[in-house]
Amino acid sequence: MSRLTCLRGGLVVDPTQSGGPTVRDLFFRDGRIVTPAPGEPADEVIDCAGRTVMAGGVDLHSHIGGGKVNLARMLLPELQRDGANPLRCTPHESDPCSLVTPGTLATGLRYAQMGYTAAFEPAMLPANARHAHLEMGDTPILDHGAYVMLGSDELLLRWMHAGVPFEQIRDYVGWTIHASKALGVKVVNPGGISAFKFNQRKLDVDEAHVHWGVTPRQIVHTLARALRELQVPHPLHIHGSNLGVAGNIASTLETIAALEGLPAHLTHVQFHAYGIEGPKKFSSAALQLAEAVNTNPHISIDVGQIIFGQTVTASGDTMRQHANAGLANPRKWIGADIECDAGCGVVPFRYREQSFVNALQWVIGLELFLQVKDPWRVVLTTDHPNGGPFTSYPHLIRLLMDRSFRLEQLARLHPEVAANCALKDMTRELTLEEIAIMTRAGPARLLGLADRGHLRPGAAADIAVYRQDGDAEQQFTDPPLVFKDGLLVARAGQIVAQPVGATHIVEPVYDTSIDKRVRAEAQAHGGTPPQPISHDELCSCCRGGRILPVECLAAEEGA
Ligand SMILES: [Zn+2]
Ligand SMILES: [Zn+2]
Repeated sequence: MSRLTCLRGGLVVDPTQSGGPTVRDLFFRDGRIVTPAPGEPADEVIDCAGRTVMAGGVDLHSHIGGGKVNLARMLLPELQRDGANPLRCTPHESDPCSLVTPGTLATGLRYAQMGYTAAFEPAMLPANARHAHLEMGDTPILDHGAYVMLGSDELLLRWMHAGVPFEQIRDYVGWTIHASKALGVKVVNPGGISAFKFNQRKLDVDEAHVHWGVTPRQIVHTLARALRELQVPHPLHIHGSNLGVAGNIASTLETIAALEGLPAHLTHVQFHAYGIEGPKKFSSAALQLAEAVNTNPHISIDVGQIIFGQTVTASGDTMRQHANAGLANPRKWIGADIECDAGCGVVPFRYREQSFVNALQWVIGLELFLQVKDPWRVVLTTDHPNGGPFTSYPHLIRLLMDRSFRLEQLARLHPEVAANCALKDMTRELTLEEIAIMTRAGPARLLGLADRGHLRPGAAADIAVYRQDGDAEQQFTDPPLVFKDGLLVARAGQIVAQPVGATHIVEPVYDTSIDKRVRAEAQAHGGTPPQPISHDELCSCCRGGRILPVECLAAEEGA
């Protein structure tokens, strides 16, 4: 007999329901939120008075699977720990073993301890898709999924160069999603990873790839249009041109223009919002970017906030990672070319409060959070582990909710930054409801996960129950209760169950005869032979976890 559970008298914060946070009972049964029949007694009642009840957190951009995370772990053995309790390490301790790229087990458990129930790998290479799914399948508790990388792959560039009909490229995008079992598509430094192999050291939005002759503008527009026509809910996930370069705000604004109104998600925008003002020719362009987001309702972003301390940056953007390799700390890095079809750079990094550049990066991230008006289009991320490990989310949430704490931190930074930034005058403090949007309701909606990120009847019973005493950092660190599909998985930081998470994918309709063409091209040009992953294989490599296809957009919306 299925049991009805009642979470009694908590402050339910579900921004998808009108009326704001409300003290009420919340019921679930068989892993779903339900409305019980009038007078129906609950089999189990859990007192939640004085607690906050939210849907489980959804991280839409966190590097948790695929080759480069493992390369990062191998590059930095001194930052891993196999001690008895690897979960106790936090990035705020000066402990050198601080976990910057925790293994799969620690990743799943630590996310769950913080009330997160889903995380998505943003940069899965088609040729590495099996590895990425295996690794995510080995990550307990969390639901997961991945965006497959396109835009520097030889086939797309060759076809764009040859001027094949758009429909052929659209079907290739659909085929790639199908073959790799992805939830979306990410483009990384559009065309730039390929251009780097032809010795181009930079590629601006309107600069042509020396060999293929196509520009990032054309690539971004083509991929965004393909996803729109395939009716994939999550629009093109864009890691723009010139990551980390002073003055790159111009490329970021040009990338938005290149979309010509097509929907898109710009990721880790903190790394793409730099001006060239001031004596150091490096300045915040957060206000310009926030303005562009405010006036372009088809654009969403995640921030990629940096957090001071040791981390490692792991990116498909070989071009930019090569440029940054000289800043590696510790002084070593990996540049790799995966299956001849993509790139990868792993550069350890230590963000320092007294560094002018790092201090400004920290400020820019927070300015973006506070200046974009619509919280539904801003997602809370650190681009784990690039800006900092996901374990620092509670700290970041406090920075956003508590101005005096923010100013205290700001006062410790490089004095020129602290004295001159716009951030020091920003008075906005995010509300609990805004945090709930940026950490669960918003990302779930942006990914098309209809039954996640909210607590309406029918939703999955992914629920986090937080304390109300203490500061926000304490509250979000180890909530008293975390449920995954109705099963209690964590209690005040202690893991009590480790269910297998589900894989979220999308299955767009495309002309499957493209398969033959893709194979012929691989045969002729020596690319990676296509070996689509079947449902059965996905299921077994993800430890029998469920496969949950998201629904494609309705035809009229997709038109
Ligand atoms: Zn990226
Ligand atoms: Zn990333």
